[in-house]
Amino acid sequence: MTLLQVDNLRVRYDTPRGPLWAVDQLSFKLESGEMVALVGESGSGKSTTALAILGLVPYSGGTVETGEIWYGGRNLLALDEREFRKLRASEIALVFQDASAALNPFLTIGLQLAEVLEVHRGLSRREALKESARALGDVGIPDPESRLHAYPHELSGGQRQRALIAMSLVAKPKVLIADEPTTALDPAVALAVLDLLKREREERGAGVVLVSHDLELVHATANRVHVMYAGRVIEQADAHELFERPWHPYTAALWRARARIGGERQHRLAAVPGAPAELTALPPGCAFHPRCELATDRCRRERPDLSGLRRAETGVSLSSGRRAACFEKERVAGAHAEAFDA
Ligand code: ATP
Ligand code: MG
Repeated sequence: MTLLQVDNLRVRYDTPRGPLWAVDQLSFKLESGEMVALVGESGSGKSTTALAILGLVPYSGGTVETGEIWYGGRNLLALDEREFRKLRASEIALVFQDASAALNPFLTIGLQLAEVLEVHRGLSRREALKESARALGDVGIPDPESRLHAYPHELSGGQRQRALIAMSLVAKPKVLIADEPTTALDPAVALAVLDLLKREREERGAGVVLVSHDLELVHATANRVHVMYAGRVIEQADAHELFERPWHPYTAALWRARARIGGERQHRLAAVPGAPAELTALPPGCAFHPRCELATDRCRRERPDLSGLRRAETGVSLSSGRRAACFEKERVAGAHAEAFDA
């Protein structure tokens, strides 16, 4: 069952240097029980996508120019703020990139959690606090009963992040948008959090949109991945196929950049050679061409659309929905096919 469907989303920010499209022609589907990951360098439009799904783009100073976001038979972008507020937290929840900014510094963790439970699940204060302690325990916070009385600044960065995740999950949302939920966590805790999200998906059919810089983690936990570059999806594929046999040179470079650090877990992306795209002055043709070793004249002139492979004899399985926006993708995919055949 499709939980969420984003169609042709386009978001503009007006900046002193001119307008920029942080998200452009973005479409994807999230099925029940599935985890879809958005990856890409800093500034590629991942958080803006997350904000759009929650109806929060206007609050960040941006404008949704086009697009539809379908959830439960309704186009979210056509809802008014009052209707949207009802959906937020109860049905579609967001774990913000910055936990410190998302928690209220003047309220204890327990009260912040309990409030969500009182509003969205109608629990009494007592029940809500009991349930809150359980939720904190679920995300691995030690001695949760006593932590209920702590203020956000009394927790470590990792614990704040976990408290925020607990807060997002207590209302049992159908869709969870998690923007770098594990960045502040050490690897063991990050895995525990991902396990928790997996349980939510398997036990209640929740869907997760994961934004992450940690490609190893995405590879290990996501079902499908959308790779973003300069606001656009340049490749989409099943997680296990994407990194092992990328079709787009940018995906291949992202994965190589991760590999160069010798298998050590890396939370920020290691650098892909060349400067990231300047969104207020995108080059003509493919936005990635100035950094691409395979670029041809056509890449400098024309912008490639997302499409499947033209030839079947590359040895890459043509799974449904796999696409890349690259004129040279047969060469990239073919190079892998040869490497795998050898
Ligand atoms: P990161 O990995 O650093 O979190 P991201 O992929 O989440 O990056 P976004 O935060 O969505 O990227 O930003 C996409 C682009 O939009 C960037 O160029 C950013 O500078 C720009 N942008 C984001 N928010 C605003 C804003 N409020 N006003 C103007 N420009 C913005
Ligand atoms: Mg972001």
